[in-house]
Amino acid sequence: MDKIIFTFSMLFLVACHSEKDLRSDLHSFSEPHHVITTHLDLNIEVDFENECISGEARYEIENKTGHRQLTLDTHGLQIHKVTSNGETRNYFLGQKDSILGQPLLIELQKEDEEVSIFYQSAANAKALQWLNPEQTAGKKHPFLFTQSQAILARSWLPCQDSPGVRFTYEAQVKVPNDLLAVMSAENPREKNIDGLYTFKMQQAIPAYLMALSVGDIEFRELGANTGVYAEPKLIEQSAFEFAETQEMLVIAQDMYGDYAWDRFDILVLPPSFPYGGMENPRLTFVTPTILAGDRSLTSVIAHELAHSWSGNLVTNKTWDDFWLNEGFTVYFERRIMERLEGIAYADMLSLLGRQDLERTLESIGHSHSDTHLKLDLAGRNPDECLTDIAYEKGFFLLRLIEQTIGRKQFDFFLKEYFSENAFQVMDTEGFVDYINSNLLNHQPKLKEKIRLEDWVYGPGIPENCPAIKSSKFKAVDQAIQSFDRGYSLEHIDCNHWSSHEWLHFLRHLPKKLTKKDLKKLDLAFNFSKSGNAELLNAWFLRTIPVGYKPAEKPLEDFLMTVGRRKFLKPLYEALYLKDPSRAKRIYENARANYHSVSQEALDELIL
Ligand SMILES: [Zn+2]
Repeated sequence: MDKIIFTFSMLFLVACHSEKDLRSDLHSFSEPHHVITTHLDLNIEVDFENECISGEARYEIENKTGHRQLTLDTHGLQIHKVTSNGETRNYFLGQKDSILGQPLLIELQKEDEEVSIFYQSAANAKALQWLNPEQTAGKKHPFLFTQSQAILARSWLPCQDSPGVRFTYEAQVKVPNDLLAVMSAENPREKNIDGLYTFKMQQAIPAYLMALSVGDIEFRELGANTGVYAEPKLIEQSAFEFAETQEMLVIAQDMYGDYAWDRFDILVLPPSFPYGGMENPRLTFVTPTILAGDRSLTSVIAHELAHSWSGNLVTNKTWDDFWLNEGFTVYFERRIMERLEGIAYADMLSLLGRQDLERTLESIGHSHSDTHLKLDLAGRNPDECLTDIAYEKGFFLLRLIEQTIGRKQFDFFLKEYFSENAFQVMDTEGFVDYINSNLLNHQPKLKEKIRLEDWVYGPGIPENCPAIKSSKFKAVDQAIQSFDRGYSLEHIDCNHWSSHEWLHFLRHLPKKLTKKDLKKLDLAFNFSKSGNAELLNAWFLRTIPVGYKPAEKPLEDFLMTVGRRKFLKPLYEALYLKDPSRAKRIYENARANYHSVSQEALDELIL
């Protein structure tokens, strides 16, 4: 064994020096240009007591170069044994990197076409969040979910964790008898008595889209090929909230071609889920904070659905090209919402997005290289560097192209782009070449107007960014003016306002509000008791700097239950600015309720 370790460590050192520059994805150790995994048979058990996943990952491999080594990514995994066709294979875990984890180097025999890894995840595996019953809606059963994007799949599954490596999979998952398991795959709809579930994913996906959740959940049909999973307590509310999902799917297909994943189901998770949604194919994971009761926050569903094309079908090659996933998805999301709710509605979303973008630019700095669409994340954790730039600057670039070229022509281009590049990766340079040769080079005057390279490789927001006007927000601005002049709030005609008008209202109230102002607003609109998480968040951002007492308890309750990073970061920042010791106290109490991606963002800020 000693000798093998020596040989393998030597191999690894050599690999580091000679091939590092050749690896296009700096966030994966794997070397898919030599040996690539093509299919996974996963056989695991989910152990709630010890908070770990253990079992066998058997990969079918394609050895392209006759290489004698398969390299997988791992993070904190214990490897018990590696075999091929039942025979033991030598392996070695390389040097640890705090962001990337450890490479698992497996010695191959010439004839090897499959490799099995017997492993166990660590108790604090970064992708996994183990929830106790108190953290669920039902309060009776534990819950588990994974969040693999960007580079966390390797913490619960040895894999080639790079967006460019796609594989199909089948899985067998053993869970406690009273719980249901679901994955980014063909899913069961009901619990069975032995707690053993099987899954099949026939479309090849990258590891960041591997997903598993286990809990007391049930299924409800929404449409012909759409449905929702949620805890029994939330299933009615979820089915009501997401009733338009099938319609969204029909609209999306009508615009950009057939849906490639058979079904589009949604899983509503407990509130500690760190994101609004995660586009796990066939089963989008979402936060329950979009259950507003009036379907006003369902653009998140349109967003995750749009990822079925941009991201899941045509995938960013590396995390430096993240805008190709997100900018396209925001554009597509708003097009779906425009068809569903009208142009005035979609314009509100775009304007709120523009406000988010301005705030992000203020905090990063307008000329910083992190404001380029093409990023350089070498040596950095992608989960901490991916910002609104990819989403909103990406959106505004696509909107500019649409406006300049014309919607009809741009839609035709996008449909072709998705179909020609389906189930493949795209990097920024490849996209620039593609759009130039398929669209812009034919129209040099329009190309000059767009100045694509300034957007992609340059900082900030270029001056040709499309301006969006909203008649709906104009009415809100008038209400703000009358508040500012001291008029009574009763005269504000806000009965038909959606979450978006309220957000605009709260964000644009005068900068300096007094406790008296806040009390007046709270009495009129009951913000502190709102059931809408977006509004609560915007409201707390106004009350924290002023020290408005009646909102303090609702704020603490919110921070103790909701783990969505988008809300937590600005709230804790504001709290810390006002009263560092209070921010620290609340965070120390709440931290255990958050997923690792939220914890890592906040540890840096507060601890
Ligand atoms: Zn997205």
